[in-house]
Amino acid sequence: LSLPIHEAVLGGAAAFGDAPALVDGAGELSLSYAQVDAFHRRVAAGLAEAGVRKGDVLALHSPNTVLFPVAFYAATRAGASVTTVHPLATPEEFAKQLRDSAARWIVTVSPLLPAARAAAELAGGIEEIFVCDAAPEDGGTRSLQSFLGSTAPEPALDFAPGEDVAALPYSSGTTGVPKGVMLTHASIATNLAQLDPFVPMGPGDRILAVLPFFHIYGLTALMNAPLRKGATVVVLPRFELDTFLGAIQKHRINGLYVAPPIVLALAKHPAVAAYDLSSLEYIVSAAAPLDAALAEACSARLGLPPVRQAYGMTELSPGTHVTPLSAANPPPGTVGRLLPSTEMRILSLDDPSKDAAPGEDGEIAIRGPQVMKGYLGRPDATAAMIDADGWVHTGDIGRVDEDGWLYVVDRVKELIKYKGFQVAPAELEALLLTHEGVADAAVIGVTDADGTEVPKAYVVRQPDAPGLTAEDVMAHVAARVSPYKKVRAVEFIDAVPRAASGKILRRELRGS
Ligand code: ATP
Ligand code: MG
Repeated sequence: LSLPIHEAVLGGAAAFGDAPALVDGAGELSLSYAQVDAFHRRVAAGLAEAGVRKGDVLALHSPNTVLFPVAFYAATRAGASVTTVHPLATPEEFAKQLRDSAARWIVTVSPLLPAARAAAELAGGIEEIFVCDAAPEDGGTRSLQSFLGSTAPEPALDFAPGEDVAALPYSSGTTGVPKGVMLTHASIATNLAQLDPFVPMGPGDRILAVLPFFHIYGLTALMNAPLRKGATVVVLPRFELDTFLGAIQKHRINGLYVAPPIVLALAKHPAVAAYDLSSLEYIVSAAAPLDAALAEACSARLGLPPVRQAYGMTELSPGTHVTPLSAANPPPGTVGRLLPSTEMRILSLDDPSKDAAPGEDGEIAIRGPQVMKGYLGRPDATAAMIDADGWVHTGDIGRVDEDGWLYVVDRVKELIKYKGFQVAPAELEALLLTHEGVADAAVIGVTDADGTEVPKAYVVRQPDAPGLTAEDVMAHVAARVSPYKKVRAVEFIDAVPRAASGKILRRELRGS
């Protein structure tokens, strides 16, 4: 735990030797553990020689590839803090992150080089842009691969793991502007150790990296955790259902870490039946609310044990709760149990200075070694998030049952206040998905003609249900909830807007 992240993750890499570490799920390339170990050290030497210094911020702008982890650990070994950038960010969004983080270096991939150059131009302050893959012919850009032949000495830096920032991921921006989250080497490494007893992994495990490495969930569950344990990570650059299912079949994947939209596809999409998914042993879902009935439909269809949920946030490195793989029958709907050396309180929604009554809904507050150092350059936002006693106020509503299982209801900010009653959009979305004509759904609060906030559903019809009407949808919900929770408006759309991490972007539906 007192190790920098590249040591904490790759400390065992040499010993895993020729075992496959990273495999390109759509192509041919693969890297053994010995290669990842050797390559990231050479690239670190090359980056240091190029001028990267301890404390510099390096922006890593890439879809998932087998070289993403090499670039990440090389950068931290060279002393940089890595800020991961959405590969599809516009030059303006990218430039904003570069300016906000005061980045000095960019690592991208050649197809994205024009966007990276445009962003660097807009932001200023960038020393050099590198690519991970083969450099373009124009000679203006160096590839990290050119460093593999470097004879420069490996940087030998002193790290203060509890202080030095290893990663600077940005929160998803679901509720507002994405914020740069300072995660130290120690907070990330500690969280990996906290997760160990809950999700054991090791040589022979084959994990599919379909969620993005640039988001904290993918970075932890699909990159740091499996590489630390000698598992094999099969890498996909994006989620596309047939490629995803084909990769599970071809690479005999045994563990899936996904978000609810993928659970939805596994439970409902006709294409699933065409693949041999018998290698799968477990599925973990996190990042957004997952309904118990949907989880059950998924595991029943695939003949698997219950879908395990986990809960966390960028600010918590990210995990606080996981449903242990060893729990045979976790209660439906739970996100899991509190990780070791982590504390939780459920704060009263009426009076946040008090705890909620046992079993009652309240705001989840967390304290532990995985708490971020703070938001970069936003002391006020940091103070609003972490109180004087070190508790992180998550903004999420949850409750704990008598056996210690946590259930997440929704975000405090997303609750719809209908005439003094509180309605959780996630509950209505889950109910909507139980209608066979509904392929996907999202719910927000809108103000009706009387000035009352009411739940409105945005619904995607199943291809074989073109006749589904707003009345059908409203009646389906009304038959299953208390009257104050009824859906009172419906609009049909082609797709629910979602962040790369799988979260519904309700603010896009609100038009704000
Ligand atoms: P921003 O803070 O910028 O608005 P964000 O909160 O979506 O974006 P992340 O840090 O990626 O950014 O997401 C953390 C949030 O994801 C949590 O606060 C919670 O609302 C949600 N979440 C994570 N896991 C679960 C889960 N298992 N069930 C329900 N919600 C979850
Ligand atoms: Mg958040």
